[in-house]
Amino acid sequence: MATNLQQKILIIEDDPGISNFLKTTVSAAGYAAIVTGNGETALQMISSHCPDCILLDLGLPDMDGGEIIRSVRSWTQTPIIVISARSMEEDKAAALDDGADDYITKPFGAVELLARIRTALRHTRTTAESGEIALNGSYHVGDLEIDYKKMRVLLSGKDVHLTPNEFRIVMLLGRHAGRVMTYKSMLKELWGPSASMDNKILRVHMASIRRKIEPNPNEPRYIFTEVGVGYRMAENEDIKE
Ligand code: CA
Repeated sequence: MATNLQQKILIIEDDPGISNFLKTTVSAAGYAAIVTGNGETALQMISSHCPDCILLDLGLPDMDGGEIIRSVRSWTQTPIIVISARSMEEDKAAALDDGADDYITKPFGAVELLARIRTALRHTRTTAESGEIALNGSYHVGDLEIDYKKMRVLLSGKDVHLTPNEFRIVMLLGRHAGRVMTYKSMLKELWGPSASMDNKILRVHMASIRRKIEPNPNEPRYIFTEVGVGYRMAENEDIKE
């Protein structure tokens, strides 16, 4: 039974096997699970139960996942984690652009799922900027520091000398650390709504940024590539020693 202290997770998934796995996993972790396999019912449940986080299967029988995300986003900022099948990979970026917070691809394990939920709950969409940046004017992860006031990026205390565009990319990812930013949302944010939607410019800058900040550019620890979707800046809990 749900208590007032428990955070509520709404599971919107029509596959009974996956739905049961999700329910068991989140319940065992101490969350209260609410489950439906139907989009229309889900929208009603969101308004009546006010869940703290929503897990959404993109392939529902009655409604398109994007339609559900846009509808939810028209009235609430509740975090949404999209659950996508491999066959729907190209829909992940679209789901994020529609307002989803993160995605997880089937098959996935309990550990990964719970980590995504914790991240989503930590980053409510109303706080676009991390508390750390607001408080100190800087973002720290591992040996990397983004100093927003002095407009510098430091690695182990040394200025890494980014170009102005590289710096803007790192600042943007730092402000959204822990969350995936799609190529499209980055290009819009950096160069305005009429910018070219060619990801190549981001890839070129990212290669140069990684040579400057990553101990091993082939195995990034600070900025991760989300294949076919975008980039994500690490948080301290991502850093493995
Ligand atoms: Ca499905």
